[in-house]
Amino acid sequence: EAKARGKNTFHFFSQDLKDAAKDRLELENQLREAIRDHQFLLHYQPKIDLQTNSVVGYEALLRWRLPDQTLVPPGRFIPVAESTGMIVSIGEWVLWEGCRFLARQLSRGLDVDLSINLSARQFRDNTLTETIARILQRTGVEPRRIIFEITESMLMGDTDAAIHQLNQLKSLGVSLSIDDFGTGYSSLSYLKRFPVDELKIDRSFVQDIPGDRNDMDIVSAIIAMAQQMNLRVVAEGVETAEQLTFLKQHNCTLVQGYYFSIPLAEQELSLLDFTIN
Ligand code: C2E
Ligand code: MG
Ligand code: MG
Ligand code: MG
Repeated sequence: EAKARGKNTFHFFSQDLKDAAKDRLELENQLREAIRDHQFLLHYQPKIDLQTNSVVGYEALLRWRLPDQTLVPPGRFIPVAESTGMIVSIGEWVLWEGCRFLARQLSRGLDVDLSINLSARQFRDNTLTETIARILQRTGVEPRRIIFEITESMLMGDTDAAIHQLNQLKSLGVSLSIDDFGTGYSSLSYLKRFPVDELKIDRSFVQDIPGDRNDMDIVSAIIAMAQQMNLRVVAEGVETAEQLTFLKQHNCTLVQGYYFSIPLAEQELSLLDFTIN
């Protein structure tokens, strides 16, 4: 009896593995089609300055629309795009599309910037700076209007190579931000060595304010540290008035989150200019 069950368990286990491999292969093929058939789009989440209560910029967030119109969130496909290297061409499309979007916003007379997420693979690519320079030049967007978001884990490992790449990017005149800050392992001495301009406090520290004393201490410490180091600080994932009050009290002026707006398609943003300002 037990033996039979053991056999069955093994059978199911290997079947699960096969299914997982098959799902993944299918996703890879679908991603290839997505690139070929232009199934990607960007949504934009406003960044708010609490001192002026105005939209000071947006973060570009990638979406994949399947032929049946389902919108696939990035968490579902970026890991596969990353491991297959497809993220490099997808990421280049994001750069073009984001810069063209920003050029349109600027031509409407808006004083806004755009945050763009970079993947680990893109960040390691030594043609990245050239690619960005070309796109900025062709779209006419001033580099100071662009902020690249990278994560702490991308700075670990070969730190000399990371610092070199950050300096290359900085030399274009763009700004650099550490996304999901606090979730990685970067020490203060590390942080000092990286030429970054901004820290984005991870949503996980914001979401349990005002219930979680530890998280509140972490958030206020990050804000104080950022100020000390002359870095801009953005709180992500702000969903409630209580969180907003706490952030204001601790002098965090830049915020992003569902409390203000979910990420929206470009056509939906123009309505927002009126409601928040
Ligand atoms: P991220 O860069 O940390 O982006 C913030 C994520 O939090 C977004 O999820 C956003 O929709 C979500 N978010 C914003 N405000 C709130 C809030 O108040 N509450 C909650 N619960 N969530 C909020 P999204 O769009 O699913 O993106 C997930 C991640 O995928 C991003 O995290 C980023 O790491 C990655 N990603 C998105 N677009 C790109 C891209 O163009 N290139 C690369 N390499 N990665 C991207
Ligand atoms: Mg981000
Ligand atoms: Mg983030
Ligand atoms: Mg995050």
